[in-house]
Amino acid sequence: MTLTPLQELAKSLHNCQRCKLAKLGRSQVVFGVGNPHASIMFVGEAPGANEDLKGEPFVGAAGKILNDLLASANLSRDQIYIANVIKCRPPDNRDPEPDEVDTCKPFLMQQIQMIRPKLVCTLGNWATQTLLERKVGITKVKAQAFYMKDFVLFPLLHPAAALHQGNLMDTLKEDFKKLKEFLDRNTKPTETTGTASPAAPTLQIDPPHPAQMDLFG
Ligand code: URA
Repeated sequence: MTLTPLQELAKSLHNCQRCKLAKLGRSQVVFGVGNPHASIMFVGEAPGANEDLKGEPFVGAAGKILNDLLASANLSRDQIYIANVIKCRPPDNRDPEPDEVDTCKPFLMQQIQMIRPKLVCTLGNWATQTLLERKVGITKVKAQAFYMKDFVLFPLLHPAAALHQGNLMDTLKEDFKKLKEFLDRNTKPTETTGTASPAAPTLQIDPPHPAQMDLFG
């Protein structure tokens, strides 16, 4: 059977040894899951213990929160694609190190090029700074649309933030409400495709607003 480019990429990373995480206790590479034709992609930081065991992003406690938040925005996991910046679990869930991000980021960018989402929602500081390529705090940029060259970036707090600080759950819910409003403004009626996988919402996102260009000076 012929593999799609995305499947080829997943296969090429299956036993990746490019960075030290390969030897620091990961059990498998967590490539990403979801609809390969999704118009919305979510990007987290790195797999945790549950993700490392199951081989799928966001299947632990943070994943349960994410599922509820997605439902609040009328999204289900089979409509979207989810990946992480780093594909292997860092030991003791420590932050990814710069060499690990440098090694793994090109594969995230290839995933984005192959899936061609219109909207990329980054979850937390790490993913946001990696894709915005700026050291900017998530609280300053969250729940706003940034018009990048090939997609719109919509940063959100990481769902795990609500596990550590319960009061952030309300903020996350508010921000997903803003995401839903953005989707409602930009979604065309779904076409029936006749394919087995549910069609992702078809987004019609307008070109950059000039004010966005000056946001970071
Ligand atoms: N946190 C992440 O950033 N990614 C996961 O896959 C799970 C938890």
